[in-house]
Amino acid sequence: MTERETTPHPLHTPAKAGSGVADDGRGDRTEGNGPRPTGSGREEIYLKGIGVSPGIAIAKAMVLESQSILVRRNDLPANAVEPEIARFREAVQLSKTQLLAVKQRLAEDVGLEHAYIFDAHLTMLDDLTFTGQVENRIRSELVNAEHALHDTIRHFTGFFATIDDPLIRERGSDINDVGNRILLNLAGERRRSLANLEFEAAIVAKDLAPSDTATMNRRKVRGLVTMVGGKTSHSAIMARALEIPAVVGVDGLLDVVRNGDAIILDGLHGDVVVRPSNDTFQRYLERQRRYKYFERELLRGIELPTITTDGYTMRIAANIELMQEISSVTLYRARGIGLYRTEFLFMNRAVLPSEDEQYETYTQLVKAIQPDPVVIRTLDLGGDKFLSSFSMPKGVKGLSGLRAIRLSLSQVDMFKAQLRAILRASAHGNAKIMFPMISGVGELKAAKEVLESAKEDLTRAGIAFGANVPLGVMIEVPSAAVAADILAREVDFFSIGSNDLIQYTLAIDRISEEVAYLYEPLHPAVLRLIRHVIDVAHRQGIWVAMCGEMASDPTAAVVLLGMGLDEMSMNPVSIPRIKRVIRSVSFQECADLAEEVLLSSTAQEAQDLIRRRIGGRLVDAVGAPEQ
Ligand code: PEP
Ligand code: MG
Repeated sequence: MTERETTPHPLHTPAKAGSGVADDGRGDRTEGNGPRPTGSGREEIYLKGIGVSPGIAIAKAMVLESQSILVRRNDLPANAVEPEIARFREAVQLSKTQLLAVKQRLAEDVGLEHAYIFDAHLTMLDDLTFTGQVENRIRSELVNAEHALHDTIRHFTGFFATIDDPLIRERGSDINDVGNRILLNLAGERRRSLANLEFEAAIVAKDLAPSDTATMNRRKVRGLVTMVGGKTSHSAIMARALEIPAVVGVDGLLDVVRNGDAIILDGLHGDVVVRPSNDTFQRYLERQRRYKYFERELLRGIELPTITTDGYTMRIAANIELMQEISSVTLYRARGIGLYRTEFLFMNRAVLPSEDEQYETYTQLVKAIQPDPVVIRTLDLGGDKFLSSFSMPKGVKGLSGLRAIRLSLSQVDMFKAQLRAILRASAHGNAKIMFPMISGVGELKAAKEVLESAKEDLTRAGIAFGANVPLGVMIEVPSAAVAADILAREVDFFSIGSNDLIQYTLAIDRISEEVAYLYEPLHPAVLRLIRHVIDVAHRQGIWVAMCGEMASDPTAAVVLLGMGLDEMSMNPVSIPRIKRVIRSVSFQECADLAEEVLLSSTAQEAQDLIRRRIGGRLVDAVGAPEQ
């Protein structure tokens, strides 16, 4: 009998509901309150989502549901008011201590930039408008602290819910979060914490708050599944950075999963199986083994150059968001960092990082990666990348609003401080500067003026910075792609941001699970734009990278290679697969393939063609020849 046949199915050892989180004996476990399957409720259910972090997780589900706290109103005699206020202040103090501890732990685990997530919450605990209103209610209405707090939370969240600006509106959820923490502390209960997970589990949730993701015990969390989100949502990016398999955008998830259910998630294909049958369980167990085997196998050749069978070298770089990813850059032997998303240093914090703090971070990065380059992209805030912060200016709206370079150009002091910090860091290593979301040469020239002015500031102050720091732009707005020849005269390199280029070209919101089926990297319009960008850049003697997700898709990568792309930059975990694919093909066959693919009238036709030509060599760690 093989090992596979004897592996017990996790359904045979179901966990008790809520038993995944250790508590201090008092516990704050909550039962699910969504609709539950009827009948036996044990049937296998397949759900489809968006795979955002590769790998296969097979575990018991740990369902995170919002904690509903029953708040009773108690009328107080006048002499009980001051002790009640003292009890409230104690709970506020305890909440502060807890948040500081979480922040400290986060700073140690994932770096300072994410620890600032909690500054907004800590500030709120010090905000007398909020805590003062609770105390006033206790005094004037002669009620218990829980009731006064509950009413105050409702008052503030009701107010924020009426505000149009999503950035400000988001502040309402911060108030809810902080308020619930105080409520739990008043009730003497400890807040749910993924840091205390006792057994290995797959986390199932509507969405994951930064505090949940940041504090989770990574040795125990086998996978993450959420109902909302897309590839660029905060939890997706964190999951990839932490190399935890994850699927997002799973409709109906909380309707069918119960705590302790066996659950399988395939973070490559976006499949989720709830309560798998024995056959399904064995099949995925086998896939998981193969995936792990392939991962090890791929790592074995990782130090080999990324060179085609006919001698064409492709530069493979890494995209990073967190400083802790530096170790993955080294592990996967990336040739530098093709995209450092600096906005993650700015997100989820009440106080923006100073020029000096930025300088320290960028310097640490370029020193760690040198002599290889680090492409530091200036702020790409806005769109979906600001939601937990409330320190940003008003007017940052929507995916086509005051986003990225537009925001930077409207906040020149902040922009200049970032540019000065990058320039200063460039004295310590190989830094390059890149502007996001450039839509035309006017915008680019305006940004270059700020860059010049930042250089003048430093020169005047006698501060050292690297001479001739290369400058590039993201090509991610269709107008920039079409007019790439004009932009090419102004910069040293391009990096194609396919995530946004596809969304804007096809008018598909990239984080919307509803229209994800129309998000097609191989759409003829997308391929033609990319081809055009590469051709005009090369004609004008500048190099072209791609740092969008498309570069990490093996099917697309062979076409990009054939079009003559100079660099592919991707999330570190994708690097081994892409290296393997490139090493298995010749440049000439990819160039021929690219020509043919460009004649396809649909993405499906293009995909079929690539499969026919290269399919067998596309590396897919879970058995299918391609994604
Ligand atoms: C892109 O748009 O492809 C890109 C790499 O930038 P981001 O995903 O950060 O928008
Ligand atoms: Mg982009």
